[in-house]
Amino acid sequence: MKSITVKSRHLLSLLSLLSATMLVATPAFAHVSVMHSVAGGSGFLAGFLHPLMGTDHLLAMLAVGIWAAQHQRPAYWLLPLAFPLMMTAGAALGMSGVILPGVEAGIAASVLILGLLIAGAVKLPLAASTALIAVFAVAHGYAHGVEMPVDGKALAFGAGFVAATALLHLSGLFATITTNHLLSTKISAKLNRIAGAGIALSGLFFVSAMA
Ligand SMILES: [Zn+2]
Repeated sequence: MKSITVKSRHLLSLLSLLSATMLVATPAFAHVSVMHSVAGGSGFLAGFLHPLMGTDHLLAMLAVGIWAAQHQRPAYWLLPLAFPLMMTAGAALGMSGVILPGVEAGIAASVLILGLLIAGAVKLPLAASTALIAVFAVAHGYAHGVEMPVDGKALAFGAGFVAATALLHLSGLFATITTNHLLSTKISAKLNRIAGAGIALSGLFFVSAMA
């Protein structure tokens, strides 16, 4: 009972942090995260390379896998499945012309918050973790959907983007599972904390780069 209260408090502070970040953020749609430029081409390969070369996507997507690995089933496989699905929904939302403010802030905040969750080994109830992942995923997808014309090349870009995303989730998931199996609980917990802290610090940098 006690741990549930602590977790809810964790969730509440994280959500308020997210909302605060979105409020101070500019509504600009260009990728403000200075580490990478906007879409940069079209087609499957460009889509595949984009999350691998854009540090904000890369870290968030690896983090989804790492955080999922810290959970039990079904979150274990549900989170890495929910992200690409909701990211695609976000892209469709962007393509349809729906206005969604705070998307860039959402991407930056996703890196920061996922890093904090990993560093603290915070396990949320399934509905909360899935909802959080869904919000982040929509931001990552929308940011690109909104700048895409609806054509075959955009669809190929999207397919490449989703494929790389899934690959990053699996990499984070398997790296964490392997580490946890091979090393002692104490050392793997420490490694998780270090990885989470590193991701959170990068997220903090992305968030501050937007101000
Ligand atoms: Zn991007």
